[in-house]
Amino acid sequence: MTSFEPVIGLEIHVQLDTATKMFCSCALSFGEPPNTRCCPVCLGLPGALPVVNAKAIEYGLMIGMALESELADRSIFHRKNYFYPDNPKAYQISQYDEPLCRGGRLGDVRIHRVHLEEDAAKLIHVGETGRIHGSDTSIVDFNRCGTPLVEIVTEPDVKSAEQAREWLQLLRETLRQLEVSDVDMSQGSLRCDANISIRPVGETGFGTKTELKNMNSFAFIERGIKAEVIRQTEIVRGGGDVIQETLHFDPRTERITSLRSKEEAHDYRYFPEPDLVPIRIAPEMLDTARAAVPELPAARAARYEAAGVSADNAKDLAFRAELAARFDDALPVADSAQATAALFLNQGELAAEVEPESVATVSNLVGAKALTPGNVRAVLEILAERGGDPADVVASEGLGAIADDGQLEGIVEDALAANADAAEKIRGGNMKAIGAIIGHVMRETKGRADGGEVTRLVRAKLGL
Ligand code: ADP
Ligand code: ZN
Ligand code: MG
Repeated sequence: MTSFEPVIGLEIHVQLDTATKMFCSCALSFGEPPNTRCCPVCLGLPGALPVVNAKAIEYGLMIGMALESELADRSIFHRKNYFYPDNPKAYQISQYDEPLCRGGRLGDVRIHRVHLEEDAAKLIHVGETGRIHGSDTSIVDFNRCGTPLVEIVTEPDVKSAEQAREWLQLLRETLRQLEVSDVDMSQGSLRCDANISIRPVGETGFGTKTELKNMNSFAFIERGIKAEVIRQTEIVRGGGDVIQETLHFDPRTERITSLRSKEEAHDYRYFPEPDLVPIRIAPEMLDTARAAVPELPAARAARYEAAGVSADNAKDLAFRAELAARFDDALPVADSAQATAALFLNQGELAAEVEPESVATVSNLVGAKALTPGNVRAVLEILAERGGDPADVVASEGLGAIADDGQLEGIVEDALAANADAAEKIRGGNMKAIGAIIGHVMRETKGRADGGEVTRLVRAKLGL
């Protein structure tokens, strides 16, 4: 049987966290009473004129920079004409053939384009089922209408549902660290559509794609794509053809239903927005945007990996910008970047209360076997409380690892004598019973013994 592979391109809408809307001075809405954040411009009243929000352009440029896009020096808005009750003007001001940014890349996925547009109003469907299909009535809240949106379109480089989820998590974290959006999927400030097709493995051409609309959680996106790939594969294996259409995935039933047949660009009768002048991106705007872009998760993770941190730990740190900034301060004094990274990640909040250099020093002491892993937390707690030099704290609190083999040997002998039945079981081959001996030694030494060393001594004493 032919095997098929998915080909996936993503379209992401991001609400920008500006003070005001895209083309008017209404404040963005955060749960205010319906229809209290509107004016003639965002309600589409005749004669009202839009003015571009400069902050939205700056945020758009920052996103383009983060995605390594080519930034336009001239960009214009178009009218995208369609009728729907959430759209009072019967057109959306969007961008068409002169978007703000073209091309780019994030991780292993190329970016096709990034453009600015405005959000629509929120339709609330009320009625017995509370769902779009079968609801009795829809009411409209125009507070969201005109909220600045950035649309990010990828190339069809995504090869699986898991990759789509992981990549979107990287994109969300990147946007979060840029501080251009609150990227809350459950609130709709980050929304994703997935374009999906399949093709026989080894083929380079593309099959007919469908578009799964507006999935509002990472889990739904992954499940929705999986379900759609299965649906398409069954159609093709059954000798049928996939039809190009826009689909809805219901996460409760896992069912995919058709929303509408796919529209083409010419259906929208795009034309240049006559009420807005073209935007020229001045060098100062680029400077302002560039100065506001911090080191972002992908670059940070790559830098940590190059310093010797495991890929997983590097990513986990890069996704926690504040912790990562502390790790950066610790890095120059760390004997092992990996061990120090792991310590920051394992001790999270506690490590954040200790001088970063001291966290590295604690990790160094463990590496040098001067401190056991079991006592790391105790040392960090003291450092968090009153600071000081980690080596001094270890010495003054008597928390240092037992260096003297003879001393440890005596304690192990006592432990074996006090736990004769456990010793007997170990001798009989039941290594699990060693837990009792190690526990005894750790109690006696207040955790200052090296577990590996204790095991070695127990084996030696029992002649194993
Ligand atoms: P449309 O004109 O239908 O909007 P675009 O060419 O603008 O299509 O692409 C929209 C999105 O669909 C992009 O993310 C793109 O990468 C993706 N895409 C295009 N063709 C395919 C395909 N055959 N399979 C999967 N995704 C695709
Ligand atoms: Zn307004
Ligand atoms: Mg398109």
